[in-house]
Amino acid sequence: MPWVLRGLRDGVVTTSYPRRADPYADGFPGTVKPLGHDPILDGRTVEDLCPTGAIRTDGGMLRVDSGRCILCGRCVVQRPDLFGWTPGSETARLTRDALVVPELPDTDDAVEQLRAELAARTRMLRRSVHVRHVDAGSDGSEEWEVLALLNPVYDVHRLGIFFTASPRHADVLLVTGAGSHGMTEPLRRTLEATPRPVVVIAAGVDAASGGLVAPGYAVAGGIATLLDVDVWVPGAPPSPFSLLHALLLATGRIQR
Ligand code: SF4
Repeated sequence: MPWVLRGLRDGVVTTSYPRRADPYADGFPGTVKPLGHDPILDGRTVEDLCPTGAIRTDGGMLRVDSGRCILCGRCVVQRPDLFGWTPGSETARLTRDALVVPELPDTDDAVEQLRAELAARTRMLRRSVHVRHVDAGSDGSEEWEVLALLNPVYDVHRLGIFFTASPRHADVLLVTGAGSHGMTEPLRRTLEATPRPVVVIAAGVDAASGGLVAPGYAVAGGIATLLDVDVWVPGAPPSPFSLLHALLLATGRIQR
């Protein structure tokens, strides 16, 4: 009885995203953006601030590679004049280069071409999509966010997105983890068993680049060394909204 009353009191908790923007989604720290140019420091470079090598200085221009950034906030705390948060959850991208902030030259053209190819490939997947999640050496944090997609707040079933236990029923492979050597063969066999067309999503910084643990003796440094990736999701871990964004982007249901 108390549960019924509580349910009636709370009303509908499910997000209206992607039909309408959700203010809650904009509260997540999406990416780190450079605010200034490469400064002259005493004996250190600004790149030393970052534990994962996400900060680059290209000819005096600061860039942050979101595919390596674990969102630890160290650069923002130590140099608020140079780095700041960009809030928001629509962080998934169609190329690895598009994860770099600010964008590298020619990124737009490459993304547009890929978007058209992916849209043609996934046309038949728009209404109902089955996702096979593969943990290829994750620290477990991404799995909590993947699991959250099934709760009443995100409720991916309302969008026709379902998780499946078998790659033979899957349209999308959602891969987390840095690509441990032990998972190389299972990942290859999972891809082989998945019917075509299949879309591969690298979910989280570990999957995109290996994160903190790469290069290492046990990991490949991201899953792109093991299979072709279609959609890249930064974040360590990415928020459920970012994962939702990636799934919708992968199936051509949103264009952004
Ligand atoms: S937030 Fe942390 S990981 Fe990301 S760029 Fe800054 S220092 Fe590097």
